[in-house]
Amino acid sequence: MAHFKVDCVVVGGGISGTTSAAALAQEGFQVLLCEAGLPNDKRLAGELMHPPAAARLDALGLLEPLKAAGAMPVYGFVIHRGPDDPGTMLSYAEVPGGRASSVAADHALMTRTLLDAVEGRPGIQVWSPARVMDVRFDADGADVEVRRGDDTVMVRTRLVVSAEGRESKIRTRAGIEVQRTEPFRMLGWRIPNGSLPYPGFGHVFLGGPSAVLAYQVARDQVRIMFEVEMDEGTELSDALLAPLPQPFRDQVAAVARTERPQTARVYGLIPQRFTGSKLAVVGDAGGCVHPLSASGIAFCTADAVDLAASMKATRGRRDPVGRALARYERGRRGPMRTRATLGPALVEALSGDSPDLALLRHGLFRYWSESPRGRRRSMGLLSTHDHGLPRMVQEYATVAAYGISGIFDGVVPAREVPSALAGLARRTAGQVRAWRQS
Ligand SMILES: Cc1cc2nc3c(=O)[nH]c(=O)nc-3n(C[C@H](O)[C@H](O)[C@H](O)COP(=O)(O)OP(=O)(O)OC[C@H]3O[C@@H](n4cnc5c(N)ncnc54)[C@H](O)[C@@H]3O)c2cc1C
Repeated sequence: MAHFKVDCVVVGGGISGTTSAAALAQEGFQVLLCEAGLPNDKRLAGELMHPPAAARLDALGLLEPLKAAGAMPVYGFVIHRGPDDPGTMLSYAEVPGGRASSVAADHALMTRTLLDAVEGRPGIQVWSPARVMDVRFDADGADVEVRRGDDTVMVRTRLVVSAEGRESKIRTRAGIEVQRTEPFRMLGWRIPNGSLPYPGFGHVFLGGPSAVLAYQVARDQVRIMFEVEMDEGTELSDALLAPLPQPFRDQVAAVARTERPQTARVYGLIPQRFTGSKLAVVGDAGGCVHPLSASGIAFCTADAVDLAASMKATRGRRDPVGRALARYERGRRGPMRTRATLGPALVEALSGDSPDLALLRHGLFRYWSESPRGRRRSMGLLSTHDHGLPRMVQEYATVAAYGISGIFDGVVPAREVPSALAGLARRTAGQVRAWRQS
């Protein structure tokens, strides 16, 4: 059995693994990245990143390779309340201090490009395909057992980085418990030359059973994603298609009739902590929420940069890895809490069908259409530029207050007004309680 020694072993070569390897190597650490076998074309996963993620990739020298591979610019989102609604635009340019644009690219292309870009960089070795089979932690580091072809290699390291995705086995082995939500399914198709109303923007189409997400993923291709129940088939019903404007709706229907979708089983997951002794958990292994918030890639890249900064900050001190992990854990807790609160709140507000959520949705669109400050603040939170839970709860309460006007605009029938108002008050109080308890 061959033996090998490095500062850090990164387990997983997805977005969080490649960016973690790049960030750690940039700080002078010797990194081994093991990837079991990159996802194939059938995998449906993150493609549209918010500007803070693009900025971090840029700083790591990883944005240009993505652009060269064909990543498309993204300037923000347009939210349509029905097939004939021209849409409400939330643009990244409105967020002060943020970038005005970001990028989107096919997921398989993105991960392949990032892995190719880090391979061969000073300080990084990539083993792919190579599966980490076992990790044994001790007081000074860990022994990592890697299966590479027919060989088993033992690697000695000071730090293990679990970038294995949601089903991280090392996280489980380290005794880190997780909370999961009920699973659902996403169906995705690529629509050749799909006619999006605003190319260059992510589109959210409301008015169907769930929000539909669409954006340009290549010069001549539009990605569309639908959420369905786990036991629903993969055929697109009229109800699912109904929120789409023409001619896009017919284009989607035609592709869906002839091509099988890419699918993903999706659930929210929140681990109780993000570190163990000599272990850092990054990216989806460290938690994920509904894809509508498009916050996964932002977290992958933030984790990479924060972990490397923590390792750098404690270098030369007593127990540097232990201190770095404590710093990383502290730094991640707040942003993850905000993400875990904002994600479900956004999904409910956009597609929930109870009277109180109809009022909240009314408030959201009124807030966005009447208040530039509202758009700026919402976009700051949604793009992960702002992380503060107090800000999020403050925004929620403001939107709820705007929503009350829906009573006079006939958003809910008169007989449902008392229960809608009570529900709105209950939801807002719940958000405030969550903030107080955090
Ligand atoms: C349908 C859907 C849509 C989404 N849309 C968006 C979006 O628009 N924007 C956004 O920001 N995010 C989005 N996300 C989230 C985003 O996809 C994830 O946050 C991101 O891909 C997570 O990357 P990761 O590297 O942490 O994990 P993964 O992508 O799961 O990568 C983990 C890697 O680890 C490897 N691995 C696992 N175990 C081992 C082992 N033992 N040894 C070696 N290798 C191993 C796997 O092969 C895999 O390549 C979406 C997710 C879904 C499901």
